[in-house]
Amino acid sequence: MLQDSFGRVATDLRVSLTDRCNLRCSYCMPPEGLEWLQKPDLLTADEIVRLVTIGVERLGITEVRYTGGEPLLRRELVDIVARTTALDPAPQVSLTTNGIGLSRLAASLAGAGLHRVNVSLDTLDRETFKRLAHRDRLSDVLEGLEAADAAGLRPVKVNAVLMRGINDHEAVPLLRYCLERGYELRFIEQMPLDAQHGWRRENMITADEILATLKADVALTDADSAERGSAPAELFLVEGGPARVGVIGSVTRPFCGACDRVRLTADGQIRNCLFAADESDLRAAMRAGAGDDEIAERWRSAVRIKKAGHGIDDPTFLQPSRPMSAIGG
Ligand code: SAM
Repeated sequence: MLQDSFGRVATDLRVSLTDRCNLRCSYCMPPEGLEWLQKPDLLTADEIVRLVTIGVERLGITEVRYTGGEPLLRRELVDIVARTTALDPAPQVSLTTNGIGLSRLAASLAGAGLHRVNVSLDTLDRETFKRLAHRDRLSDVLEGLEAADAAGLRPVKVNAVLMRGINDHEAVPLLRYCLERGYELRFIEQMPLDAQHGWRRENMITADEILATLKADVALTDADSAERGSAPAELFLVEGGPARVGVIGSVTRPFCGACDRVRLTADGQIRNCLFAADESDLRAAMRAGAGDDEIAERWRSAVRIKKAGHGIDDPTFLQPSRPMSAIGG
């Protein structure tokens, strides 16, 4: 098991397949992009599958989420998913993506056994999309969503980050869009994880604000909190249900006490928290010839020292040096 000193057990592994992305969402990275990892530094597909196998077979990982950067940019993605879903015991396997390219890949991913997707969609307006993501790709994202649904990658979940003065007027339209199509929408509070270090608490649209905006138009009732478990989203039934909407208040309503996540970066570092200052280098160990037992022990040690909370409210909080795109969201 991957247990920390507070008794939390990590069962949900987020694996970043690449730090590259074809969008430049301003809450994540600057318009000019970033200095990407060099190919020799990236884990190969075989190395990724080896580490995921150790996680699943020896360390109690039951859910694997492939992410990035943009995971659809990783050429071996379908193969990596197929090899993950073939593990015994078989983990739940999902993907977080911006949806660009999903119209081409959704059927193959479903064929490889992928269970479902989270697609990021912050706006329904083409001009706002261009302003926020610095690319004119809204129609590709919407097509990707449709393809995921048609391929049965359900429930299709949609992630939205609202930014003040940019897309914060779109909470209700985004919800209606998702309800009409049977997608489950989740609003995520903007976190201090952008490469430019431009996050300001006063600019963040809080969970309270999001809920107040939604409730002005739509009847929301608490979904059974017992269902939440370790899920980051607080869920609400829309107009009595069964449709639901989620709010992930990572900053103002932290859920660290129930966190069951651990992260593997595209260059093979274990991070026990999105906001961790330290990492554990499994790539170096693996390339130096470490056996599965040794790698598993290093991984356990990395999780054991997980802090009680992300500490954003602590006066000594320092934003991690890796931005979200290089950690894997
Ligand atoms: N490229 C994929 C995507 O767009 O979903 C996967 C990686 S992206 C880093 C994963 C999720 O993190 C997206 O839903 C994105 O909106 C979210 N995200 C990125 N930066 C964020 C930030 N500073 N605060 C909150 N969410 C963020």
